[in-house]
Amino acid sequence: MTLRARLTAAFLTVVAGPVVIGAYLVGSAVTSIDRSRSADRLAVAATTVRTAVDTLCQQLRTAAEVVALAGDQAVAARQVVDRGLAAAVRITDLGGQVLHTTTPLPAASWRDCADRTPADAPPGALAARVELRDATGAARGAVTAAQPVDPAFVARLAVLTGAAVTLLEGPDPASRLRHTTESAGVREAVLGAVGGLEDEQVVGTDDGRYLRRVGPSDGQPLSLVLSVPSDRPPSLYAVLVAAVLLAVLLAVVVAGRLARATSRPLVELAGAVDRVARGDLTARVPVRGRDEIGRLAGAFNRMTRETGTYVAALTSSRDQLRGHLEVLGDTLASTHDLQRILRVILHSAIAATGARAGAVLLVDPGGLLVAQATEGLEAPAGEPGPVRVPLADLVGAVTVSGEARRGRVEPTVAPSAEPPCRTYIAVPFAAPRDGGVPWADSPSPRPGGPPSGAAPATFGVLALYDRLGGEDFADDDLVTLRTFAGHAAVAVDNVRVHEETQRLSLTDPLTGLWNYRYLRQSLRREVERATRFGRMLSVLALDLDRFKHVNDTHGHAAGDRVLVEFARRIRGEIREVDLAFRLGGEEFVVLLPETDAVGAATVAERLGAAVRDAPIAVGGLAAPVLVPVTVSIGVAVHPDHGGTGQEVLNAADEALYAAKASGRDTCRVAGAAKAPAPGLPAPAGSDEGAPRAGARREPPAQPGAGGNGSESEVVPGSGAATPRGATSGPHPPRQSRGR
Ligand code: GH3
Ligand code: MG
Ligand code: MG
Repeated sequence: MTLRARLTAAFLTVVAGPVVIGAYLVGSAVTSIDRSRSADRLAVAATTVRTAVDTLCQQLRTAAEVVALAGDQAVAARQVVDRGLAAAVRITDLGGQVLHTTTPLPAASWRDCADRTPADAPPGALAARVELRDATGAARGAVTAAQPVDPAFVARLAVLTGAAVTLLEGPDPASRLRHTTESAGVREAVLGAVGGLEDEQVVGTDDGRYLRRVGPSDGQPLSLVLSVPSDRPPSLYAVLVAAVLLAVLLAVVVAGRLARATSRPLVELAGAVDRVARGDLTARVPVRGRDEIGRLAGAFNRMTRETGTYVAALTSSRDQLRGHLEVLGDTLASTHDLQRILRVILHSAIAATGARAGAVLLVDPGGLLVAQATEGLEAPAGEPGPVRVPLADLVGAVTVSGEARRGRVEPTVAPSAEPPCRTYIAVPFAAPRDGGVPWADSPSPRPGGPPSGAAPATFGVLALYDRLGGEDFADDDLVTLRTFAGHAAVAVDNVRVHEETQRLSLTDPLTGLWNYRYLRQSLRREVERATRFGRMLSVLALDLDRFKHVNDTHGHAAGDRVLVEFARRIRGEIREVDLAFRLGGEEFVVLLPETDAVGAATVAERLGAAVRDAPIAVGGLAAPVLVPVTVSIGVAVHPDHGGTGQEVLNAADEALYAAKASGRDTCRVAGAAKAPAPGLPAPAGSDEGAPRAGARREPPAQPGAGGNGSESEVVPGSGAATPRGATSGPHPPRQSRGR
């Protein structure tokens, strides 16, 4: 049942109920009053009837006595009748013989007023009888005066009583009527209603009359029914029913309108709530007044409006966050530019927490936190460069303890190296896998850090400053920041792995020198730079002498030791800007930027001496064997001996070949047109010696290593086995020439 139906029913009950009850009471009261008044009128009429009959009897008695006392009874009888004191007079003797009678005589059955015995049929006339006596007082007969009970008599009674009078055939109420003043239309109804009616009882008929039985009784021998019409308006019940129906109809209409007016805002509210439940926050309810429902509608509208605003803000912040995460994801996936990654992570973290400023700081080998990315921070006054924070400071302490912190900085606190702020939050991060400090040279634990083997060592901190609005950073921010710190840790670690991989791909694993691949890059770069700046670039090609013999004599492992030691001595003899490469086997190259032939020859001499002068110890510590080693070196200079890196390298190779040819353990400058400078080795080609057969080196072919074709002269090797450790990329070009 709907609310509207319930309200309508309630209103109808409240309004129409009393109307119906009132109408019923009015009807009952009117009926009761009417009945009572009719009964009163009938009672008066009954008394009038008795009085009239009694009066008639008295009159007849008087008439009879007048006749009895008269001298001439016949004349007296005639006069009594003429004067209307009786309708007829009869004189009888003692034997009952009629002596005289007036005419006409009424119906035969005369009823004596003094007769107390009940009669079965109504009398034809009422009579009074007195004795007739002579002068002596002796009885001679009787005089009887009579008055007929006819329709005129009944009509007179009706006139006297003011009621309709019906004379019944007998004392039985159901007996047929003899005379009546009732209108023809109601006679049957009266006769029907009289059945079972007792004397003096009042009943109503269907057509609105009240009846009362009168007699026969003592002194009144007639069986009469009196009836009076009801005083009640004939259409009372119809009017009442119509009034009730009208009231109910009105009540229905008013109840319907009222219920509609009351339930309509609630229906609208329910509809709006349904729409909100389906996710439509634009739902609004019309406010129709200031009553409770109006206030409810207003509150609902406010609630949905504010919820909509809140949801819009949430959606926008979610979209923003999604955008940041996309940028973050793209950046993490597509670049190894650590600075850029850290900047994006920091920016996203600041946007997610609503901070004013922030920094990503990494521990440097010197034990300081150095900012790798900052946002919203001013460079510290008088301190150029990135923000540096000692590990003892606020954020620095986070690094030491390895635990996140957040809080408020009191302005009274002494200034530190950290950025000035009111509120801060700092989360440490460690390498996700081994926990090592990515670029720390030494794997030993950081001073003040957790002991090795415990939790991963912290190598950085993500710190944010001054939450917008001045509030403290919350626990939620800690959770968010930990996520971003995790990203930072992964990014730093990825870059570390990437750098390590790159380094490994460009170095020779046995000696740690750069490999041939890096030589090609370096040559191109250094030649370019030398060309641009008009500088010299020298290339040394080195080849250990008779190294096969070392292997054959002392074994391959000993040969490797010699190679490692040789590389170490090269590194010891060259400058930091110089680059040393192992091409494979026992062949090496050294690039000397900004070095001319004289300088290069000097370095070559120094290198030769460094090898020659100190035999290399191989074998175990218990029984070391000193292996004397020498090296032949070819020198070429850009741009004198070649315009491109490859040409210079080829020239150095040729010079090396010349050095080998001249007896090894020596150095030759590439075959420049000019003679060697005083004190310098002769240029390659100026030496008379043809290459010795034994000096020919087998090409250090490495399966699958040749033929990457990035330089046209490079030809895959002949397939000869390469000693272990010769893993550095394609073959050097000079070997492809099959010297
Ligand atoms: P030359 O004076 O003419 O250069 O004579 P050589 O014996 O040094 O020249 P050759 O090219 O004939 O021999 C090079 C040898 O170097 C061959 C190989 O046994 C050895 N070798 C190459 N790579 C490695 C390596 O990685 N480790 C060791 N132990 N030996 C290597
Ligand atoms: Mg050699
Ligand atoms: Mg060789």
